[in-house]
Amino acid sequence: MRVAIIGAGISGIVAARELCAEHEVAVFEAASRVGGDARTSEIQIGNQVVPVDTGFLIFNECRYPRFGSLLRELGVATRDADVSLTIQSDKPNLLFRGTTLRDLLRSGRNFTSPAFYATFRDLLRFARHAKHFSAVENVEFSLEDFISLKRYSPAFVDLYLVPMLAGVSQMTREEILQLPLPYAFAFLNTHGLLQLTEPTGWKTVIGGARAYMSKLTAPIEGFVHRNHCVVAISRAPDHVLIKFQDRPSQRFDAVVLGTHADQALSLLADPTRPERRILGAFQYRARVGVLHTDRALLPTDASLWGSWNYRLTDAGTRTVAFTYNLSRLNGLTLPEPLLLTFNSPSVSPEHLLQTFDYQRVVLDRRSYLAQRSRSQINGVRRTYFCGAYWGNGFHEDAVASAHAVVDLVRQDNALRIAETCGK
Ligand SMILES: Cc1cc2nc3c(=O)[nH]c(=O)nc-3n(C[C@H](O)[C@H](O)[C@H](O)COP(=O)(O)OP(=O)(O)OC[C@H]3O[C@@H](n4cnc5c(N)ncnc54)[C@H](O)[C@@H]3O)c2cc1C
Repeated sequence: MRVAIIGAGISGIVAARELCAEHEVAVFEAASRVGGDARTSEIQIGNQVVPVDTGFLIFNECRYPRFGSLLRELGVATRDADVSLTIQSDKPNLLFRGTTLRDLLRSGRNFTSPAFYATFRDLLRFARHAKHFSAVENVEFSLEDFISLKRYSPAFVDLYLVPMLAGVSQMTREEILQLPLPYAFAFLNTHGLLQLTEPTGWKTVIGGARAYMSKLTAPIEGFVHRNHCVVAISRAPDHVLIKFQDRPSQRFDAVVLGTHADQALSLLADPTRPERRILGAFQYRARVGVLHTDRALLPTDASLWGSWNYRLTDAGTRTVAFTYNLSRLNGLTLPEPLLLTFNSPSVSPEHLLQTFDYQRVVLDRRSYLAQRSRSQINGVRRTYFCGAYWGNGFHEDAVASAHAVVDLVRQDNALRIAETCGK
């Protein structure tokens, strides 16, 4: 079969790499580079040009089994990651730092604060409750419902729970509180945030995301077409027609969409009702990441800096600014820390290096139900869909969705061959 793959993010590239063994594959990527949200940027700092990951940053060997084994297969070198967290609140004046819940509990600087004790107590209760609820698939039940059912203190919610989830998901406080409970637990579990013991298995990739993207792409380089923006996809009973911005259309036997769900839907010239309903259930929100060297976003005492730093800047609006310490995560030794901050307007202009625009999927009740209806559209009308949005939005989800597509293409192709032979 001739298979077109739209989008050269991790999901599209993994699908292409697997399918090219049996099919004629062409990957079309709108941008001038492959990788999508796995991106290593070249940043000028003084006289130095520093490669730094400004999208994908970290993975866990146990919790990312498919992605981890892909890196091993590719022979990509990884290093243990420092997964320390710092939570700093101006009002009440609290600071926790550590790599485990136990560390966080021990590290408070204000032992006289009632908020500190309330946070401690509820942290332990939450970890215990979450264990019992982790199997619950009740999508109607939001994190906010769970908070009021178990009567967790506002201090715990605002000083720990919301900052943690905001950091890993880049969601707002309101979005987090409305998360269906299974999503919230999946996030916290995936990131080991309910673990009392030392977190293990967290790694970063030496050389950054481009180290594995280049190895992944190498065997299919001849079939990857950059600067090829697809504008429409028309499906006929016996073929699929891919239309481009400034190029002649091309005909294929099947198409795999490795774009975001909303982009996939907008490309389909004649979406079916299930495609509209299921792909339309995924909403995306723009997030701006600010790359900078402004230490003011971190605690004054450098020994308290974490890899993930949460700062509750305004008790009134309960805004959570979170800052990835990219120097630590990327293993860089630089005169000034290289930081990527979300949700903070207060980065001083003289320290600002670059801004990045991201589109992040909103994980809510609708998207949760849509994920469970994937089989209604995947493989229908010669069209397949992969991408991190079929899971929690991480690399493991993207790779898993690509493997699911590859299996389905194989099955469908075997069926087609059997039907043709039977005629
Ligand atoms: C700041 C940040 C930090 C992150 N940190 C982590 C982390 O530490 N660990 C982790 O596992 N995940 C992390 N993620 C999430 C991770 O980056 C995603 O899980 C993953 O990269 C998504 O891959 P994808 O293939 O689904 O989509 P994408 O990477 O978004 O790829 C989609 C591709 O489709 C292309 N495209 C879109 N429309 C068209 C068109 N019309 N024609 C042709 N091409 C098109 C796009 O240009 C893009 O290249 C992070 C994300 C961000 C933003």
